[in-house]
Amino acid sequence: MQSKLFPRTRKQAPKDAESINHQLLVRAGFIDQLMAGSWTLLPLGWRVVTKINKIIREEMDAIGGQEMLMPLLHPKQIWNETGRWDTADEVMYKLKDIHDKEYALSFTHEEIVMDLLRKNIKSYTDLPVSVYHFSTKFRNELRAKSGILRGREFMMKDLYSAHTSEEDLMDYYEKVKVAYKKIFTRLGFDFKVAKASGGVFTDKFTHEFQVFSEAGEDTIYWKDGEDEAINEEVFEGNKDDYHSAKSIEVGNIFPLGTMYAEKMGMLFADKDGSKKPVWFGSYGIGPTRVMGTLVEVSHDDKGIVWFPQVAPFDVHLLSIRSNEKTRETYEKLQNAGLDVLFDDRDVNAGEKFSDADLIGIPVRLVVSEKTGDKIEYKERNGDKIEMLTLEEVIQRLHES
Ligand code: ATP
Ligand code: MG
Repeated sequence: MQSKLFPRTRKQAPKDAESINHQLLVRAGFIDQLMAGSWTLLPLGWRVVTKINKIIREEMDAIGGQEMLMPLLHPKQIWNETGRWDTADEVMYKLKDIHDKEYALSFTHEEIVMDLLRKNIKSYTDLPVSVYHFSTKFRNELRAKSGILRGREFMMKDLYSAHTSEEDLMDYYEKVKVAYKKIFTRLGFDFKVAKASGGVFTDKFTHEFQVFSEAGEDTIYWKDGEDEAINEEVFEGNKDDYHSAKSIEVGNIFPLGTMYAEKMGMLFADKDGSKKPVWFGSYGIGPTRVMGTLVEVSHDDKGIVWFPQVAPFDVHLLSIRSNEKTRETYEKLQNAGLDVLFDDRDVNAGEKFSDADLIGIPVRLVVSEKTGDKIEYKERNGDKIEMLTLEEVIQRLHES
Protein backbone atom coordinates (compact mmCIF):
# COMPACT_ATOMS: atom_id res chain seq x y z
CA MET A 1 0.00 0.00 0.00
CA GLN A 2 1.16 3.48 -0.83
CA SER A 3 1.38 5.55 2.37
CA LYS A 4 -0.39 8.90 2.55
CA LEU A 5 1.54 11.99 1.55
CA PHE A 6 2.69 13.56 4.82
CA PRO A 7 1.48 16.03 5.91
CA ARG A 8 -1.83 17.41 4.61
CA THR A 9 -1.89 20.82 2.96
CA ARG A 10 -3.26 23.77 4.90
CA LYS A 11 -5.82 26.39 3.87
CA GLN A 12 -4.28 29.10 6.05
CA ALA A 13 -0.70 30.25 6.40
CA PRO A 14 0.62 30.65 9.97
CA LYS A 15 -0.21 34.12 11.35
CA ASP A 16 3.42 35.18 11.68
CA ALA A 17 4.32 34.12 8.11
CA GLU A 18 5.33 37.40 6.45
CA SER A 19 7.16 36.15 3.39
CA ILE A 20 5.74 34.30 0.39
CA ASN A 21 8.15 31.38 0.71
CA HIS A 22 7.14 30.90 4.36
CA GLN A 23 3.42 31.02 3.56
CA LEU A 24 3.44 28.77 0.51
CA LEU A 25 6.04 26.22 1.62
CA VAL A 26 4.22 25.71 4.93
CA ARG A 27 0.73 25.61 3.40
CA ALA A 28 1.79 23.16 0.68
CA GLY A 29 3.56 20.90 3.20
CA PHE A 30 7.21 21.36 2.19
CA ILE A 31 8.55 22.68 5.51
CA ASP A 32 7.53 22.88 9.16
CA GLN A 33 8.77 25.39 11.70
CA LEU A 34 10.09 24.08 15.01
CA MET A 35 11.00 27.56 16.30
CA ALA A 36 12.24 30.82 14.77
CA GLY A 37 14.83 29.96 12.12
CA SER A 38 14.57 26.19 12.56
CA TRP A 39 12.80 24.02 10.00
CA THR A 40 12.00 20.44 9.19
CA LEU A 41 12.31 19.67 5.50
CA LEU A 42 9.19 17.55 5.06
CA PRO A 43 9.11 14.82 2.36
CA LEU A 44 8.20 17.25 -0.45
CA GLY A 45 10.75 19.83 0.71
CA TRP A 46 13.48 17.24 1.05
CA ARG A 47 12.79 16.06 -2.52
CA VAL A 48 13.29 19.61 -3.82
CA VAL A 49 16.48 20.15 -1.82
CA THR A 50 17.78 16.76 -3.03
CA LYS A 51 17.25 17.88 -6.64
CA ILE A 52 18.97 21.21 -5.97
CA ASN A 53 21.87 19.35 -4.33
CA LYS A 54 22.19 17.00 -7.30
CA ILE A 55 22.70 19.94 -9.66
CA ILE A 56 25.24 21.51 -7.30
CA ARG A 57 27.06 18.19 -6.83
CA GLU A 58 27.37 17.58 -10.58
CA GLU A 59 28.98 20.98 -11.13
CA MET A 60 31.29 20.64 -8.11
CA ASP A 61 32.47 17.23 -9.30
CA ALA A 62 33.00 18.67 -12.80
CA ILE A 63 35.62 21.11 -11.42
CA GLY A 64 37.40 18.40 -9.45
CA GLY A 65 35.66 18.88 -6.09
CA GLN A 66 35.81 15.77 -3.88
CA GLU A 67 32.79 15.24 -1.65
CA MET A 68 33.21 14.34 2.03
CA LEU A 69 31.42 15.04 5.32
CA MET A 70 32.77 17.02 8.28
CA PRO A 71 31.63 17.19 11.91
CA LEU A 72 29.41 19.97 13.26
CA LEU A 73 30.56 19.97 16.88
CA HIS A 74 33.90 21.79 17.07
CA PRO A 75 36.37 22.27 19.94
CA LYS A 76 36.95 25.87 21.08
CA GLN A 77 40.72 25.56 20.68
CA ILE A 78 40.55 25.30 16.89
CA TRP A 79 38.47 28.49 16.63
CA ASN A 80 40.94 30.27 18.93
CA GLU A 81 43.77 29.64 16.48
CA THR A 82 42.40 32.20 14.03
CA GLY A 83 40.77 34.39 16.66
CA ARG A 84 37.29 33.71 15.33
CA TRP A 85 36.12 32.24 18.67
CA ASP A 86 35.98 35.94 19.66
CA THR A 87 35.55 37.84 16.38
CA ALA A 88 32.63 35.69 15.20
CA ASP A 89 31.08 35.59 18.67
CA GLU A 90 27.80 37.12 17.47
CA VAL A 91 26.92 34.36 15.02
CA MET A 92 28.33 31.34 16.87
CA TYR A 93 26.33 29.01 19.09
CA LYS A 94 28.65 28.02 21.92
CA LEU A 95 28.13 25.36 24.54
CA LYS A 96 29.80 23.60 27.45
CA ASP A 97 29.72 19.93 28.36
CA ILE A 98 29.38 18.70 31.97
CA HIS A 99 33.17 18.95 32.40
CA ASP A 100 33.08 22.62 31.35
CA LYS A 101 34.82 21.89 28.08
CA GLU A 102 33.74 24.44 25.45
CA TYR A 103 32.50 23.79 21.93
CA ALA A 104 30.95 25.62 19.01
CA LEU A 105 28.32 24.41 16.60
CA SER A 106 29.62 24.87 13.09
CA PHE A 107 28.74 28.17 11.40
CA THR A 108 31.32 27.43 8.65
CA HIS A 109 34.31 25.07 8.22
CA GLU A 110 37.46 26.99 7.18
CA GLU A 111 39.32 26.18 10.41
CA ILE A 112 38.28 22.52 10.29
CA VAL A 113 39.48 22.17 6.69
CA MET A 114 42.75 23.94 7.54
CA ASP A 115 43.31 21.45 10.37
CA LEU A 116 42.69 18.58 7.92
CA LEU A 117 45.14 20.08 5.44
CA ARG A 118 47.97 20.61 7.92
CA LYS A 119 47.69 16.98 9.02
CA ASN A 120 47.81 15.71 5.42
CA ILE A 121 49.60 18.14 3.10
CA LYS A 122 53.40 18.08 3.23
CA SER A 123 54.64 19.20 -0.15
CA TYR A 124 53.71 21.07 -3.31
CA THR A 125 53.17 17.65 -4.92
CA ASP A 126 50.10 17.19 -2.67
CA LEU A 127 48.45 20.35 -4.07
CA PRO A 128 46.05 21.64 -5.34
CA VAL A 129 43.20 20.14 -3.31
CA SER A 130 39.48 20.81 -3.62
CA VAL A 131 37.00 19.29 -1.17
CA TYR A 132 33.39 19.97 -0.31
CA HIS A 133 30.47 18.81 1.76
CA PHE A 134 26.78 19.40 2.27
CA SER A 135 25.91 19.92 5.91
CA THR A 136 23.98 21.91 8.46
CA LYS A 137 25.29 25.30 9.56
CA PHE A 138 24.25 27.01 12.77
CA ARG A 139 24.16 30.81 12.98
CA ASN A 140 22.62 33.00 15.61
CA GLU A 141 20.81 35.20 13.10
CA LEU A 142 19.20 38.25 14.71
CA ARG A 143 16.38 38.55 12.23
CA ALA A 144 15.15 35.08 11.34
CA LYS A 145 12.06 36.43 9.59
CA SER A 146 12.24 35.63 5.92
CA GLY A 147 10.94 32.07 6.11
CA ILE A 148 13.50 29.53 4.97
CA LEU A 149 15.65 32.25 3.38
CA ARG A 150 17.28 32.92 6.76
CA GLY A 151 17.51 30.01 9.14
CA ARG A 152 19.39 29.67 12.41
CA GLU A 153 20.08 26.13 11.29
CA PHE A 154 20.25 25.66 7.51
CA MET A 155 21.89 23.60 4.83
CA MET A 156 25.04 24.71 3.07
CA LYS A 157 27.25 23.25 0.39
CA ASP A 158 30.74 24.51 1.15
CA LEU A 159 33.74 23.89 -1.07
CA TYR A 160 37.32 24.63 0.02
CA SER A 161 40.41 24.76 -2.17
CA ALA A 162 44.13 24.96 -1.36
CA HIS A 163 46.89 25.99 -3.78
CA THR A 164 50.63 26.57 -4.02
CA SER A 165 50.32 30.11 -5.41
CA GLU A 166 48.02 33.10 -5.63
CA GLU A 167 47.83 32.62 -9.38
CA ASP A 168 46.63 29.04 -9.03
CA LEU A 169 44.06 30.08 -6.40
CA MET A 170 42.70 32.85 -8.63
CA ASP A 171 42.54 30.51 -11.64
CA TYR A 172 40.48 28.09 -9.61
CA TYR A 173 38.37 30.93 -8.17
CA GLU A 174 37.36 31.84 -11.73
CA LYS A 175 36.53 28.19 -12.43
CA VAL A 176 34.27 28.08 -9.40
CA LYS A 177 32.64 31.32 -10.54
CA VAL A 178 31.83 29.70 -13.90
CA ALA A 179 30.56 26.53 -12.16
CA TYR A 180 28.31 28.67 -9.93
CA LYS A 181 26.93 30.48 -12.98
CA LYS A 182 26.10 27.09 -14.49
CA ILE A 183 24.40 25.96 -11.28
CA PHE A 184 22.22 29.06 -10.94
CA THR A 185 21.35 28.97 -14.65
CA ARG A 186 20.38 25.29 -14.40
CA LEU A 187 18.25 26.13 -11.36
CA GLY A 188 16.30 28.58 -13.53
CA PHE A 189 17.33 31.84 -11.83
CA ASP A 190 17.63 35.33 -13.25
CA PHE A 191 20.75 36.47 -11.35
CA LYS A 192 23.88 38.61 -11.34
CA VAL A 193 27.35 38.14 -9.94
CA ALA A 194 28.08 41.01 -7.54
CA LYS A 195 31.25 42.25 -5.90
CA ALA A 196 30.89 42.33 -2.11
CA SER A 197 32.73 42.47 1.20
CA GLY A 198 34.08 39.47 3.08
CA GLY A 199 32.21 39.75 6.42
CA VAL A 200 33.82 37.70 9.20
CA PHE A 201 35.75 35.70 6.60
CA THR A 202 38.23 38.06 4.95
CA ASP A 203 39.31 41.68 4.40
CA LYS A 204 39.39 41.02 0.67
CA PHE A 205 36.59 41.42 -1.85
CA THR A 206 34.33 38.45 -2.56
CA HIS A 207 31.69 37.63 -5.16
CA GLU A 208 28.06 36.99 -4.43
CA PHE A 209 25.44 35.37 -6.66
CA GLN A 210 22.36 37.55 -6.41
CA VAL A 211 18.91 36.49 -7.66
CA PHE A 212 16.57 39.33 -8.62
CA SER A 213 13.68 39.38 -6.13
CA GLU A 214 11.70 41.97 -4.20
CA ALA A 215 11.94 39.62 -1.21
CA GLY A 216 15.71 40.12 -1.10
CA GLU A 217 17.52 41.87 1.73
CA ASP A 218 20.32 43.02 -0.56
CA THR A 219 20.45 45.76 -3.19
CA ILE A 220 22.78 45.52 -6.16
CA TYR A 221 23.92 48.13 -8.69
CA TRP A 222 25.11 47.56 -12.25
CA LYS A 223 25.79 49.38 -15.49
CA ASP A 224 24.52 48.46 -18.95
CA GLY A 225 26.94 46.17 -20.72
CA GLU A 226 28.88 45.31 -17.57
CA ASP A 227 28.82 41.70 -16.52
CA GLU A 228 29.31 42.16 -12.80
CA ALA A 229 27.21 44.16 -10.35
CA ILE A 230 28.22 45.69 -7.00
CA ASN A 231 26.55 45.09 -3.65
CA GLU A 232 25.27 48.29 -1.99
CA GLU A 233 27.46 47.44 1.04
CA VAL A 234 30.61 48.30 -0.94
CA PHE A 235 29.13 50.61 -3.60
CA GLU A 236 30.94 53.96 -3.96
CA GLY A 237 29.80 55.22 -7.37
CA ASN A 238 27.15 57.73 -8.37
CA LYS A 239 23.80 55.94 -8.06
CA ASP A 240 22.33 57.90 -11.01
CA ASP A 241 24.71 56.11 -13.41
CA TYR A 242 23.54 52.64 -12.40
CA HIS A 243 20.53 50.34 -12.46
CA SER A 244 19.59 48.91 -9.09
CA ALA A 245 17.42 46.06 -7.84
CA LYS A 246 16.59 44.09 -4.72
CA SER A 247 18.12 40.64 -4.65
CA ILE A 248 18.63 37.45 -2.65
CA GLU A 249 22.17 36.17 -2.10
CA VAL A 250 22.19 32.45 -2.92
CA GLY A 251 25.94 31.89 -3.18
CA ASN A 252 29.20 33.53 -2.14
CA ILE A 253 32.82 32.81 -3.09
CA PHE A 254 35.86 33.95 -1.08
CA PRO A 255 39.50 34.19 -2.26
CA LEU A 256 40.82 33.99 1.29
CA GLY A 257 44.57 34.05 0.62
CA THR A 258 47.20 32.85 3.11
CA MET A 259 45.85 34.28 6.39
CA TYR A 260 44.24 31.03 7.59
CA ALA A 261 47.32 28.96 6.72
CA GLU A 262 49.65 31.42 8.44
CA LYS A 263 47.61 31.52 11.63
CA MET A 264 47.15 27.75 11.73
CA GLY A 265 50.62 26.73 10.54
CA MET A 266 49.63 25.01 7.29
CA LEU A 267 53.03 25.19 5.59
CA PHE A 268 54.03 23.04 2.64
CA ALA A 269 57.50 22.42 1.19
CA ASP A 270 57.75 24.13 -2.20
CA LYS A 271 59.93 23.00 -5.15
CA ASP A 272 62.98 24.82 -3.80
CA GLY A 273 62.46 23.28 -0.34
CA SER A 274 61.24 26.49 1.31
CA LYS A 275 58.18 26.35 3.57
CA LYS A 276 55.15 28.34 2.41
CA PRO A 277 51.56 28.84 3.57
CA VAL A 278 48.87 27.47 1.24
CA TRP A 279 46.61 29.81 -0.72
CA PHE A 280 43.06 29.11 0.39
CA GLY A 281 39.55 29.76 -0.95
CA SER A 282 36.04 28.91 0.25
CA TYR A 283 32.83 28.79 -1.73
CA GLY A 284 29.28 28.48 -0.33
CA ILE A 285 25.75 27.87 -1.59
CA GLY A 286 22.68 27.55 0.62
CA PRO A 287 20.36 24.86 -0.83
CA THR A 288 17.56 25.59 1.66
CA ARG A 289 17.73 29.31 0.84
CA VAL A 290 17.72 28.32 -2.84
CA MET A 291 14.45 26.44 -2.32
CA GLY A 292 12.88 29.52 -0.68
CA THR A 293 14.21 31.75 -3.46
CA LEU A 294 12.69 29.47 -6.12
CA VAL A 295 9.30 29.99 -4.48
CA GLU A 296 9.80 33.77 -4.24
CA VAL A 297 10.52 33.99 -7.98
CA SER A 298 8.03 31.40 -9.27
CA HIS A 299 4.53 31.37 -7.78
CA ASP A 300 1.06 32.76 -8.48
CA ASP A 301 -2.06 33.42 -6.41
CA LYS A 302 -2.88 29.70 -6.34
CA GLY A 303 0.48 28.43 -5.14
CA ILE A 304 3.99 27.41 -6.11
CA VAL A 305 5.07 26.93 -9.75
CA TRP A 306 8.15 24.66 -9.66
CA PHE A 307 10.57 24.58 -12.56
CA PRO A 308 10.70 20.94 -13.79
CA GLN A 309 14.37 20.40 -12.87
CA VAL A 310 13.70 21.08 -9.17
CA ALA A 311 10.09 19.96 -8.82
CA PRO A 312 9.48 17.33 -6.10
CA PHE A 313 7.79 15.07 -8.68
CA ASP A 314 7.53 15.10 -12.49
CA VAL A 315 3.75 14.66 -12.49
CA HIS A 316 0.82 14.93 -10.14
CA LEU A 317 -1.74 12.26 -10.96
CA LEU A 318 -5.25 12.87 -9.65
CA SER A 319 -7.86 10.18 -9.53
CA ILE A 320 -11.45 11.42 -9.64
CA ARG A 321 -13.67 8.53 -8.53
CA SER A 322 -11.80 5.92 -10.55
CA ASN A 323 -8.97 4.68 -8.39
CA GLU A 324 -8.64 1.31 -10.01
CA LYS A 325 -8.12 2.73 -13.49
CA THR A 326 -5.81 5.47 -12.21
CA ARG A 327 -3.64 2.96 -10.36
CA GLU A 328 -2.89 1.27 -13.67
CA THR A 329 -1.86 4.62 -15.15
CA TYR A 330 0.26 5.30 -12.05
CA GLU A 331 2.14 2.06 -12.46
CA LYS A 332 2.73 2.61 -16.17
CA LEU A 333 4.06 6.12 -15.59
CA GLN A 334 6.40 4.81 -12.91
CA ASN A 335 7.58 2.02 -15.19
CA ALA A 336 8.39 4.72 -17.75
CA GLY A 337 10.84 6.17 -15.21
CA LEU A 338 8.72 9.12 -14.07
CA ASP A 339 8.36 10.41 -10.49
CA VAL A 340 4.63 10.46 -9.84
CA LEU A 341 2.73 11.93 -6.93
CA PHE A 342 -0.53 9.98 -6.81
CA ASP A 343 -3.56 11.60 -5.22
CA ASP A 344 -6.10 8.85 -4.63
CA ARG A 345 -7.55 10.39 -1.45
CA ASP A 346 -11.23 10.19 -0.83
CA VAL A 347 -11.82 13.95 -1.06
CA ASN A 348 -13.73 16.02 -3.62
CA ALA A 349 -12.28 16.99 -6.99
CA GLY A 350 -12.11 20.71 -6.12
CA GLU A 351 -9.84 20.00 -3.18
CA LYS A 352 -7.56 17.84 -5.32
CA PHE A 353 -7.29 20.55 -7.98
CA SER A 354 -6.53 23.32 -5.51
CA ASP A 355 -3.94 21.17 -3.72
CA ALA A 356 -2.28 20.40 -7.07
CA ASP A 357 -2.06 24.13 -7.80
CA LEU A 358 -0.72 24.86 -4.31
CA ILE A 359 1.96 22.13 -4.44
CA GLY A 360 2.96 23.25 -7.92
CA ILE A 361 4.21 20.12 -9.71
CA PRO A 362 4.77 21.06 -13.41
CA VAL A 363 2.23 18.64 -14.92
CA ARG A 364 -1.20 17.63 -13.63
CA LEU A 365 -2.88 14.49 -14.96
CA VAL A 366 -6.49 13.55 -14.29
CA VAL A 367 -8.10 10.18 -14.77
CA SER A 368 -11.82 10.09 -14.11
CA GLU A 369 -14.99 8.33 -15.20
CA LYS A 370 -15.29 10.99 -17.92
CA THR A 371 -11.81 10.76 -19.42
CA GLY A 372 -12.41 7.35 -21.01
CA ASP A 373 -9.28 5.92 -22.62
CA LYS A 374 -7.58 9.31 -22.49
CA ILE A 375 -5.87 11.27 -19.73
CA GLU A 376 -6.45 14.94 -19.00
CA TYR A 377 -3.12 16.80 -19.25
CA LYS A 378 -2.44 20.30 -17.90
CA GLU A 379 0.74 22.20 -17.19
CA ARG A 380 0.94 24.18 -13.94
CA ASN A 381 2.14 27.34 -15.67
CA GLY A 382 -0.50 27.28 -18.45
CA ASP A 383 -4.27 27.12 -18.89
CA LYS A 384 -4.58 24.65 -21.77
CA ILE A 385 -6.23 21.33 -20.93
CA GLU A 386 -5.60 18.50 -23.40
CA MET A 387 -6.85 14.95 -23.71
CA LEU A 388 -3.93 12.64 -24.48
CA THR A 389 -3.25 8.93 -24.58
CA LEU A 390 -0.88 7.47 -22.01
CA GLU A 391 1.80 7.08 -24.70
CA GLU A 392 1.48 10.75 -25.65
CA VAL A 393 1.70 11.78 -22.00
CA ILE A 394 4.88 9.77 -21.49
CA GLN A 395 6.40 11.19 -24.64
CA ARG A 396 5.63 14.78 -23.58
CA LEU A 397 7.13 14.22 -20.15
CA HIS A 398 10.30 12.73 -21.53
CA GLU A 399 10.68 15.72 -23.85
CA SER A 400 10.28 18.33 -21.11
P1 ATP B 1 23.78 36.74 4.47
O1 ATP B 1 24.57 37.93 4.03
O2 ATP B 1 22.53 36.56 3.71
O3 ATP B 1 23.59 36.67 5.94
P2 ATP B 1 26.22 35.35 4.42
O4 ATP B 1 26.95 36.23 3.50
O5 ATP B 1 26.47 35.44 5.85
O6 ATP B 1 24.65 35.47 4.12
P3 ATP B 1 27.75 33.06 3.57
O7 ATP B 1 28.54 32.87 4.79
O8 ATP B 1 28.34 33.65 2.39
O9 ATP B 1 26.39 33.83 3.95
O10 ATP B 1 27.05 31.64 3.27
C1 ATP B 1 27.03 31.02 1.98
C2 ATP B 1 25.60 30.79 1.56
O11 ATP B 1 24.84 30.13 2.57
C3 ATP B 1 24.82 32.07 1.29
O12 ATP B 1 25.09 32.54 -0.01
C4 ATP B 1 23.39 31.59 1.43
O13 ATP B 1 22.96 30.94 0.27
C5 ATP B 1 23.49 30.58 2.55
N1 ATP B 1 23.13 31.15 3.86
C6 ATP B 1 23.86 31.99 4.62
N2 ATP B 1 23.23 32.29 5.76
C7 ATP B 1 22.05 31.63 5.71
C8 ATP B 1 20.94 31.52 6.59
N3 ATP B 1 20.93 32.15 7.77
N4 ATP B 1 19.90 30.74 6.23
C9 ATP B 1 19.90 30.07 5.04
N5 ATP B 1 20.92 30.14 4.17
C10 ATP B 1 21.97 30.90 4.49
MG1 MG C 1 27.64 36.02 1.93
